[in-house]
Amino acid sequence: MEVLRTVFGYDSFRGDQAAIIHRVTAGGDAVVLMPTGGGKSLCYQIPAILREGTGVVVSPLIALMQDQVEALEAVGIRAAYLNSSLDLEQARTVERGLLAGDYDLVYLAPERLVQERTLDLLGRTRLALFAIDEAHCVSQWGHDFRKDYLGLSVLADRFPGVPRIALTATATAATHRELTERLALQGAEHFVASFDRPNIQYRITEKNSARQQLLRLIRTEHDGEAGIVYCLSRRRVEQTAAWLRDQGVDAMAYHAGMSEAQRAEGQRRFLREDGVVMVATIAFGMGIDKPDVRFVAHLDLPKSVEGYYQETGRAGRDGLPATAWLAYGLQDVVQLRRMIDESEGSEEHRRVQRAHLDAMLALCETTDCRRVQILRYFGQETGPCGNCDTCLNPPASWDATVPVQKLLSAVVRLDRERGQRFGAQQIIAVLRGTPNERSTRSRHDQLSVWGIGADLSETAWRAVIRQLLARGILAATGEYGTLELAGPAGPILRGEQTVTLRVTPERTAKVARSRTGATGSRSTVAAELGEEDREVFERLRAWRTEQAREQGVPAYVVFPDATLIELARARPSSSAALAEVSGVGAKKLERYGEAVLRVLA
Ligand code: ADP
Ligand code: ZN
Repeated sequence: MEVLRTVFGYDSFRGDQAAIIHRVTAGGDAVVLMPTGGGKSLCYQIPAILREGTGVVVSPLIALMQDQVEALEAVGIRAAYLNSSLDLEQARTVERGLLAGDYDLVYLAPERLVQERTLDLLGRTRLALFAIDEAHCVSQWGHDFRKDYLGLSVLADRFPGVPRIALTATATAATHRELTERLALQGAEHFVASFDRPNIQYRITEKNSARQQLLRLIRTEHDGEAGIVYCLSRRRVEQTAAWLRDQGVDAMAYHAGMSEAQRAEGQRRFLREDGVVMVATIAFGMGIDKPDVRFVAHLDLPKSVEGYYQETGRAGRDGLPATAWLAYGLQDVVQLRRMIDESEGSEEHRRVQRAHLDAMLALCETTDCRRVQILRYFGQETGPCGNCDTCLNPPASWDATVPVQKLLSAVVRLDRERGQRFGAQQIIAVLRGTPNERSTRSRHDQLSVWGIGADLSETAWRAVIRQLLARGILAATGEYGTLELAGPAGPILRGEQTVTLRVTPERTAKVARSRTGATGSRSTVAAELGEEDREVFERLRAWRTEQAREQGVPAYVVFPDATLIELARARPSSSAALAEVSGVGAKKLERYGEAVLRVLA
């Protein structure tokens, strides 16, 4: 408690933090499942400070270790890292420091840790604990498997007296079981937090012109704020980033095909500068500790709910309002299904992937609260949240049995009478009786199904097909995504089963208004504040940018947004009052106190 206040400047623990810290400080093992932004770091940092010796943090994210160490040093904790980015001389210095007991915390990559040389070094070091971060990486069935993690069970044998704490934000029961076993944590106490992230607004919308929709989101709600835009392919990443830059958005690209140096530079800018939008494949983001990411947008459908939740979880770690926005369409469904069908590996593997995709589609097409669905997927029950698109703007549903019968018949007739199979576009042309080259050539206008669906627009038909694909009533196969009947199509055609579909409301605009309406602000953070406070906030932000630049550290290392907001509201006028503000610890008070008071005066 004392450490929490004086070192970190916070006045109370969150959730299970106190219990976890107590357990590990007393020498016990722990398994911690907590969502991103839940506050996992303190769970090992404080015990490492309290216990004698050095805490060793195992993390797969070499590129981020330097930032993590800088953030710790900024609050006065003695920290270092050992990884392949150090030259021999630097590594020796850290090793000597370790043996001399100079550090509270040292970060290590798993591949380095399991080397005999490192194990031997640690054997001669006084150790406070081992913290295994991103512990789900040990799970072979998970979405982030890393082979080096399997070697970590060695810690239990080699260092039986040193407490171990494993932490992850991946919450499924299967991952939990697997990591407990593989890391030999059978004797650990388990702490499973609620996985809810109430400050993130979940929105899933129909894709019509994805880039324009994205641009509108950025301009109307997240102007000048940091965000991540996920795309499925490298090409789309590059095109989207270039297009956003043309539109005046400070966007960068990141994917595995870029050089190490380019990626490091992108990551550095994203972390250190304010308001950079990173357009990336899912190669980007794990362990990105940036607390003020205000939105995560998906321009392509994620492959699983686990992946989606982890990616969106990178928004709003600081607890301030943030947006998770996904646009998806018919093409996404067709494409992902095809990727699975054509993927290498066993049938079992494809079956697992299909199940993941089905769960993701069910989330997209739900008429219930998104959060209720997501949390249920992770085995947790809650009530409707009031902060997702379906809560804010409930979608209507309609009895689509007759249109669906028309559609299914069109697919059947083309196949039976002509031996032809088509993708969505041509089927819709037939239903709507819209002549095109192919239909003229094949005399489709002679079919009994020609034009029977002229009462629905092309967009409406696409939404119908998408939902039928999502529910497995239609299947799309082959390179062109040709449609065929599946599952319960027969009973529907025979009139034995009805189909209720979701009407996609015009929601983006309405939701956006509900958030920015009150203050007219185009940024979610500033929208938290009244006009006068906002001006103070902007002044503090400018000062912070200056500080960060001078020191070459990310802005939030100086002070996170949450602290700036509290400062703007409370406007303390003395050093004592300043110390009361959350996020102002002894070290930062000493370092920035006077300057902040001057900015506020
Ligand atoms: P995680 O690793 O679980 O994603 P972090 O440890 O990075 O989360 O914490 C997220 C943010 O919350 C950080 O900015 C951290 O400083 C802050 N935080 C953590 N614990 C507390 C607390 N007890 N009070 C206030 N802020 C906290
Ligand atoms: Zn909801």
